[in-house]
Amino acid sequence: MVEQRHGFPHAPLWSHATPLEPQPRLAKAIGARSVLIKRDDCNGLAFGGNKVRQLEYYIGDALSQGADTVLLTGAVQSNFVRTAAAACNRYGLKCHIQLEDRVPKDDRDYNSSGNVLLNELLGATLHYFNEGGDETAADNKLAEIAEGLRQQGAKTYIVPMHPSHNPLGALGYIDCAAELVKQFETSGNVPDRIFVGSGSGNTHSGLIYGLRKLGCQVPVSGICVRRSANLQKPRIEQRCGQLANMFQETSPLKPGDIVIDGAFLPPGYGQAGPDTIEAIKLCAQMEGLVLDPVYTAKVMAGLIAESRRNPNQDLLFIHSGGGPAIFAYANDLRRSVLGTSE
Ligand SMILES: *Cc1c(COP(=O)(O)O)cnc(C)c1O
Repeated sequence: MVEQRHGFPHAPLWSHATPLEPQPRLAKAIGARSVLIKRDDCNGLAFGGNKVRQLEYYIGDALSQGADTVLLTGAVQSNFVRTAAAACNRYGLKCHIQLEDRVPKDDRDYNSSGNVLLNELLGATLHYFNEGGDETAADNKLAEIAEGLRQQGAKTYIVPMHPSHNPLGALGYIDCAAELVKQFETSGNVPDRIFVGSGSGNTHSGLIYGLRKLGCQVPVSGICVRRSANLQKPRIEQRCGQLANMFQETSPLKPGDIVIDGAFLPPGYGQAGPDTIEAIKLCAQMEGLVLDPVYTAKVMAGLIAESRRNPNQDLLFIHSGGGPAIFAYANDLRRSVLGTSE
């Protein structure tokens, strides 16, 4: 029997609230009154991250459908597929991963270290897909792999990531929003603004929807990590509309609630610009806080830029994980952050 949460099947993977930690040296360096970090990188499962919260609902859905094999697709250094492989192991499910060639890189560490190494250690079956920019083609290829497995008797569940499907993963960030609201009440401090990565949109849409549903009006800036702001904004609007449909309620969002900043995406998905590199160095060397070049450092670059534009604010950063990618980007980071090469 799979339990229900928010009216949807839910398989627990991590049952503790993640801490909110102040970063006073960083705050001082960037002119903020305070910087708080929501440590969603510390939620346990195989190096953790935001996907743990999302997977509780995908694994719940898979189990409630009687599946024994889960399939999903992502970039070569996807944190989602690595965490999914770990979550499948927790529930005795087989895991098939399709790695999409989305980032123009031909680098041994990128292709075999970091998350790829972890996928292998976790025992997932890996498949490769070469036209990574094409979401529909990637989904079609995954469906073919699933069909092959069904012919061999597997009961398959494909993690539905295409934006036409209900964003089950966003429910995990409705949970995070509830945790945050409780933490604000306990501490008596409410931040002026929250910064979060906006990729598939599950994290961003769940967070903003959950906060507004609980009556918390803190502004949330979604920092683009995958596609430009003009494409990302309608995606988050669509995701929030789908959540309202899933709950059969009117959306609690007001016009202007969806804020998207695309300034830190260039040069593109999985590639770090100068602000991203600065954020990695500053956080590591001021606070011992490790950020990754694909996601979290871009979000931090957004927070830093906002603090420099408008000083003396209380800012909150959602640390969504991604640490293992550091090792996949070792050559780039040595060059750009440290100014050395191997
Ligand atoms: C996937 C990911 C994101 C983006 O989250 P979405 O829910 O896909 O928008 C942010 N940070 C990290 C570390 C991730 O792995």
